[in-house]
Amino acid sequence: MARSLAGQVALITGASSGIGWELGRQLALQGCPVGLVARREQPLRELQQIITQAGGTSAVAVADVAERHQIENAVQQIREQLGPVDLVFANAGVGKTTQIHPVNVAEVEQVIRTNLLGVIYTLSAALPEMLTRGTGRLIGISSLAGYRGLPGESAYCASKAAVNSYLDGLRIQLRDSGVRVTTICPGFITTPMTANMNFHLPGLMTAEKAVQRMIRAVKAGTKVYSFPWHVHMMVKFSRWMPDRVMARIMRDKAMAPNPVTPPSPT
Ligand code: NDP
Repeated sequence: MARSLAGQVALITGASSGIGWELGRQLALQGCPVGLVARREQPLRELQQIITQAGGTSAVAVADVAERHQIENAVQQIREQLGPVDLVFANAGVGKTTQIHPVNVAEVEQVIRTNLLGVIYTLSAALPEMLTRGTGRLIGISSLAGYRGLPGESAYCASKAAVNSYLDGLRIQLRDSGVRVTTICPGFITTPMTANMNFHLPGLMTAEKAVQRMIRAVKAGTKVYSFPWHVHMMVKFSRWMPDRVMARIMRDKAMAPNPVTPPSPT
C-alpha cells in the first residue's frame, strides 16, 4: 500500500537538471522538504525559487559527488537546514561514450567516479544517521543499461551494473536495520542527457511521468524497479544474445574506432 511521503526530508543529488530536478519539484509538491545538490548552483537556486513559490521547503548545497568530502559536507548542510534526512536519491550521473582509438581513459574514470563512487559516497554520508534512527530509505538511480554491456557504452554500463550489485548487497545487509534500499533502473527519459541522441529511443518517456513512477515505487518499498517493462524485457533478453548478433544490431557502434553514442538506455 502506497504511503504518503509528506514531511519526510528528501536529499537529491543531480537536482540541477533532468530527473533530479523533476524529483525535487514533485517531492516538494508532495510535502517533502527537499535538499537539492549538484555542482551548478544557479539551476538549483532556480528550482528552489519554484518550490518556494509553490509553498514548499528546500535547501541547496553545492557539491561534486565524485569528491567524498564535498558530498559529505553537502549532506551535513542539508541536515542542518532541514533536519535528519529520511530519503536519499543518489541520482547524479554522467553519460559519456567509451572510445577505443584512442581510449578516452580520463572520461571513463569520470563516469566510474561519478556514477559509482558518487552513489556510494552519497549513500554512505547519509547512512550512519539513518542507522542510529533505525529508519530511512536509500534510493539509487541506476539504468537498464546496467543489465548488459553495450558497444560504445562500456564504462556507462559497467558503472550502472556495479551500482546494481552494490545496492543488492547493501539491501540485504541492511535488512533488519530499518533502512530500506531501492534500485531504480529507468529506460530512456527525455532529459539533457538524451537530448543529442538522434535515433529512435524505444519507450522514451517524459521526466515528469518517469519521476511519478519512481516515487510510486519508493512509496511501495519496491526493491528493484526497472521500467518501462517492454524495454526491460528487451534488455534482459539481449543478455542471451550472441555477441555477433549484438554486433550486427549495433554495427556502427561496435566497429567504429570512436563510436557515437549508441541507442542504449542511458
Ligand atoms: P542530466 O544530464 O539531465 O542530469 C545529470 C545531473 O547530474 C545534473 O543535475 C548534474 O548536475 C548532475 N551531476 C553530474 N555529475 C555530477 C557530479 N560529479 N557531482 C554532482 N552532480 C553531478 O541527466 P538525467 O537527469 O537524465 O540523469 C540522471 C540520472 O539518471 C543519471 O544517473 C543517469 O545515468 C540516470 N538515467 C538517465 C536516463 C535517461 O534516459 N535520461 C535513463 C536511465 C538512467 P551538475 O552538472 O550541476 O553537477
